[in-house]
Amino acid sequence: MQPSDKALVPFVSVDHMMQLIHRIGVHEMLKGLADYIEADFKRWELFDKTPRVASHSAEGVIELMPTSDGEVYGFKYVNGHPKNTRDGLQTVTAFGLLADVGTGYPVLLSEMTMLTAMRTAATSGLVAKYLAPKGAKTMAMIGNGAQSEFQSLAMQAIAGIERVQMWDIDPAATEKAVRNLTGSGLQVVACASAEEAMEGAEIITTCTADKAYATILSDNMVGPGVHINAIGGDCPGKTELAPGILTRSDVFVEYPPQTRVEGEIQQMDPDFPVTELWQVMTGQAPGRTSASQITLFDSVGFAIEDFSALRYVCDQLEGTGLYHDLDLLADPDDPRDLFGMLQRAKA
Ligand code: NAD
Repeated sequence: MQPSDKALVPFVSVDHMMQLIHRIGVHEMLKGLADYIEADFKRWELFDKTPRVASHSAEGVIELMPTSDGEVYGFKYVNGHPKNTRDGLQTVTAFGLLADVGTGYPVLLSEMTMLTAMRTAATSGLVAKYLAPKGAKTMAMIGNGAQSEFQSLAMQAIAGIERVQMWDIDPAATEKAVRNLTGSGLQVVACASAEEAMEGAEIITTCTADKAYATILSDNMVGPGVHINAIGGDCPGKTELAPGILTRSDVFVEYPPQTRVEGEIQQMDPDFPVTELWQVMTGQAPGRTSASQITLFDSVGFAIEDFSALRYVCDQLEGTGLYHDLDLLADPDDPRDLFGMLQRAKA
């Protein structure tokens, strides 16, 4: 990626992002993203970390997610509005930026609606690789909205899933997901209930959207030995699992100060035990220790995953031409003559 001028910032539009994903291949890119996320989780202690800054409203949330590894700074703007789909709008949209810590100059601006779906799925696949039962082949996919195909393909590419059993309260969502996954190599089955979708599944993904303490899975639905990939509970007052499931599970999280506020564990005491995923990835904490254990990834989405995803995109852009040079930064010939530049523009 070589912008012709230092003051021009490469911008990856939605169209360019889609072209990039197809050029690399969806499965390949999910695996590449997972590698970058894993590499960054393994150097976790280097990062500047903070829970995301959330602005809540009656219908949704708008969040800023910053982090830095000391050399590169990144942030994502993201919203979550479950009612949006009723008006033909996405539940989740996003864009993000990487900057050089040395100068503070941005080096990449990118759409992140597509990229968030890819990075969330890549993280799910990566975590399942560590925690899912050995040889897991079947996943229940509960909630068949915008994220669901990405989740399914990442579990296929990264965790070796061969069959996905889909359920959504809206049959049109399931029909859409089944249609979209045709030809993926996955065996895809539309189910008539959550219970049917979970029959024989070693991995259970919940990815629904409702601004409520929902009970997508009740305690009696979850048997021993499964891995639960809980994606949709990611905001205060927005959960998917009955608390009884949490007490029977070993719970793995991205960044506890954020997950305790936003994740499934917001329903539990503040000292409810959790394991941090970076410690599992670096070998400092155990992952799955028995065949009967229930492992639960209480996913909320953390800034480092977005940082990794932007870093990945940045590294893939070179030579592709899949970006626009954006006139984002004022760049007077004399850096102190900003006003002179304004005056010359009038002439
Ligand atoms: P979406 O609105 O496109 O899809 C949600 C689907 O859930 C809809 O099809 C809806 O019919 C279905 N649903 C609602 N209640 C249900 C129920 N009780 N049983 C079965 N299905 C039900 O949303 P999306 O973009 O796919 O996102 C899904 C969720 O994932 C959202 O809550 C979003 O905030 C969350 N999310 C989390 C992360 C993360 O990093 N953890 C990242 C992105 C999105």
